[in-house]
Amino acid sequence: MKKFSYRVFAWALAGFIFSLMIYRPPGRSGLPIHDRTLPAGDPEMVAPVLQHGLAKLMAEFPCGFDVELRAFDDADSDVWGWTTWDDEREIYEIHYYSLAPLVVMGETIMHEYTHVLVYDMPQQSDHDALFWVMYGSLYRFGADE
Ligand SMILES: [Zn+2]
Repeated sequence: MKKFSYRVFAWALAGFIFSLMIYRPPGRSGLPIHDRTLPAGDPEMVAPVLQHGLAKLMAEFPCGFDVELRAFDDADSDVWGWTTWDDEREIYEIHYYSLAPLVVMGETIMHEYTHVLVYDMPQQSDHDALFWVMYGSLYRFGADE
């Protein structure tokens, strides 16, 4: 099976980010890249990229359940994403802000999948040391690939 090439992905991501940097919405200029009002591109086009990234994480760090990605575009939301557990379907749902820059969406999914992985572990709080150790493992996996 062909190994997923993070090098190719990184170049594609770099190109995408560059296009974001030079993009100017009509009537506005000079928006920083993390400004939430800056369109990140076509969510339909971005979704398969995110799905593929999640599949790679899940292959390396299995959680034992299916995980669905759900886009939301509520610009009033004060979070990039969150995770829910659907008791009926026994499935995790990762919600992400679909108008964020791609790199933010990728980080959000990595962050939320970390919550999935540590969900049943004894935690002191949502973002305790255990959470960040696990997050670091996922992050390093992404950087090493
Ligand atoms: Zn969190």
